Amino acid sequence: MSNPTMRVRYSPLAQQYADPEPIFAELRELVRSGDFTLGKPVGEFEEMFAAMLGVKHAIGVGSGTDACKIPLKALGIRPGDEVITCANTFWATVGAINEVGAKPVFVDCDDSFCLNVDQLEASITPRTKALMPVHLTGDVADMPRIMQIAAKHALPVVEDACQSLLGELDGRKAGTFGAAAAFSMHPLKIINVWGDAGVIVTDDDEMARMSRLLRNHGLKNRDEMEILGYNTRLDSTMAVVGKYIVRQTRDIVEQRARNAAYYDAAFKDVRGARIPPRNARTKHVYLLYILFAERRNELVKYCIEQGIEAKVHYPIPLYQQKALAHLGYKTGAFPVTDRHAEECITFPVDQHLSREEMDCVVETVRNFYAGKARP
Ligand SMILES: *Cc1c(COP(=O)(O)O)cnc(C)c1O
Repeated sequence: MSNPTMRVRYSPLAQQYADPEPIFAELRELVRSGDFTLGKPVGEFEEMFAAMLGVKHAIGVGSGTDACKIPLKALGIRPGDEVITCANTFWATVGAINEVGAKPVFVDCDDSFCLNVDQLEASITPRTKALMPVHLTGDVADMPRIMQIAAKHALPVVEDACQSLLGELDGRKAGTFGAAAAFSMHPLKIINVWGDAGVIVTDDDEMARMSRLLRNHGLKNRDEMEILGYNTRLDSTMAVVGKYIVRQTRDIVEQRARNAAYYDAAFKDVRGARIPPRNARTKHVYLLYILFAERRNELVKYCIEQGIEAKVHYPIPLYQQKALAHLGYKTGAFPVTDRHAEECITFPVDQHLSREEMDCVVETVRNFYAGKARP
């Protein structure tokens, strides 16, 4: 997994699960009970997750992608419909829209990495059937304005909150504005399990009921199939891991935010690197710590040579991917997304990162722009 020559690794997973004994203990019990399918830990985890977000329902599913897909399906989104989302999002948002047969329609982002709300209304057509804003990087999209536009056009909103667990806007949590929201516990997310898992949250009883049906073949009970559904349950084993890690969420996001503040202070006066604007109204949970960097590709290469596992989110904008060529978007259609693909660099910011590791990142970037990178 992590490269031994790396001085600053990207993934904190080995540290996060350095002591897996408490999880093994509960897994041992689970194995003895054989309660693998929608077992007791699933309900327990769902209750903990719902309580953390202050929502009425949390429904565990097989992945964050399915947590995006199922609410769309529950809302009746179908082939021929359009769902509006961001041009710069991760594959899964668009994959979920595609799986219900709908067409993704993109809106450019702004420097918050979230959808530019000024451009939203112009993309609404008679075929638009839902809005799917994405809280990318750990910041929160301007939900009050998005909800206003949605109300005006009578459109439901499903939030892709997979990157922003416990993010807030005006004190309200990401994922609690729309009809439903999707969270992911993929290993690279704020909290994670030992494989794939996702969670749908909603305050709407009917959305919750439909989501529970859809994740389990549309089964109302053992013998009656009410609707056609999927097999995308949260595994009991993953729920055991989820129960262990969900308790740590608050501490994890607070440490991430402290680390980001440390970086921001250190990068403030580094010429060549620009910190994205920070929104005083949002509580950013920093799944990703991104800088806009001059000579970005050279900087990434230099960082890797210096043993810093820097990343790029994302080097090829989603709307320009081959798989989406049929949508007919031309290069240049989303200039901010394009600029981000050229300027963004991501550094580790997780809860297990040490002060020394952060100093090493800062010094490396400083050295690069001070010209010390050149031979
Ligand atoms: C991770 C992620 C998802 C879901 O991905 P899974 O790997 O299926 O859990 C959806 N949307 C965004 C923006 C994501 O980052």
